[in-house]
Amino acid sequence: MSKPNIAVIGAQWGDEGKGKIVDMLTPHFSAVARYQGGHNAGHTVYVQGRKFVLHLIPSGILHPDVTCIIGNGVVIDPQALFREIDELAAVGVDVDSRLLISEKAHVILPYHRELDVLSEARRGERKIGTTSRGIGPAYEDKIGRRGIRICDLIGDPAALQQEVRENVSARNRIIKDSTLDWKPVFDHLVAFGERIRPWVTDVSLFLARAIQAGNAVLFEGAQATLLDIDHGTYPFVTSSNASVGGICTGLGVAPKAIGGVLGVAKAYTTRVGEGPLPTELAGPLAERLREGGQEYGASTGRPRRCGWYDAVVVRYSARINGLDALALTKLDVLDGLPEVRVCTGYRTPSGTITEFPADLRPLATAEPVYETLPGWSTPTKGATRFEQLPAEARRYLQRLEEVSGVACAIISTGSDRAETILREGSCAAGWLA
Ligand code: GDP
Repeated sequence: MSKPNIAVIGAQWGDEGKGKIVDMLTPHFSAVARYQGGHNAGHTVYVQGRKFVLHLIPSGILHPDVTCIIGNGVVIDPQALFREIDELAAVGVDVDSRLLISEKAHVILPYHRELDVLSEARRGERKIGTTSRGIGPAYEDKIGRRGIRICDLIGDPAALQQEVRENVSARNRIIKDSTLDWKPVFDHLVAFGERIRPWVTDVSLFLARAIQAGNAVLFEGAQATLLDIDHGTYPFVTSSNASVGGICTGLGVAPKAIGGVLGVAKAYTTRVGEGPLPTELAGPLAERLREGGQEYGASTGRPRRCGWYDAVVVRYSARINGLDALALTKLDVLDGLPEVRVCTGYRTPSGTITEFPADLRPLATAEPVYETLPGWSTPTKGATRFEQLPAEARRYLQRLEEVSGVACAIISTGSDRAETILREGSCAAGWLA
């Protein structure tokens, strides 16, 4: 029987360590495909002490022979794409011969960045905390049916010129005192089209043929379920479907092609930007997690907000995505804490919430309901077998699985590829066999 196609999806608010997990799983797949988001994603991967930060290119690129795919659901900033390709080439990673880009993907235009900054400034106190990279405005243009797609760049130049002129004059009407000239935007897009042309393809067709031929594909999520435009903590979300549904729309693959779904969650919780984080900690403990886990954004360097593991969040993600299992990361960051906590609900004046709500207002004053477990003094750092974990860490994992309703098939005990436990008998072990 051929290996199933597997999805790797963030189960919290992002930065769970998806890059490391995708990188670790990649040797078992023929292709790795990104289905949403833009270069606001930042996946950090360490290989034998060398650090790689990937934004747009799938994390599978660090393995030779794997095809890396950018689907139609991704929005592409030409400059960011070429910067990343050049940086990878400079350290000897060949991208040229292994990259495929959907002809239906939308392009981030230079003024999308400007619009992003303006829109955040206009929101004032209610700002979303975006990365200001033009991703939201590019998706707005896509949904508004005025976006420019990759196929437009390599198609009829006269039609492209017409589209660019209309778009730029519409922007000039929106941005006060703006007199942006369409010509440099057009030239920039034509140059981009020329360079990108060899990689452009019908990604849906490529994937259908690969899957038909028995070549397994790994679907790589960026951001995470709680940042999903539909299912996340709206409006403090990203502009795309980061959860499992985004795979079908963002790559043109059928639901039946998804043979397994792996959620990635940290052994605690973090988020960057604004919006609710019910288990958020302050003071020395927050600082301890931030420093221990190096919780600073890979794309922006922003410090991440830190809190205890929230089982309400992961249970919700398990439902939305149909998670088969979890890859639990950063267990080592909890090493040495006298006690560890798991949140099982939120106490509000009108009762305890155990299912993640749509209306975020009750969360602002909700008190997390915690279970407290003993910590461990023997480090988990670097463990590669479950039996190496101290009993208290195993107890913590067991309780975390019970309250989250999903088993930990993979446990990550350090940032390096090698610092990973693949649990025997788990579904993930079965997928990779
Ligand atoms: P992603 O966007 O989900 O890929 O996550 P990021 O790359 O933004 O953040 C994850 C960070 O945690 C990276 O710097 C990883 O190297 C690091 N990391 C991943 N797994 C582990 C782990 O098990 N332990 C520790 N200490 N660091 C980890």
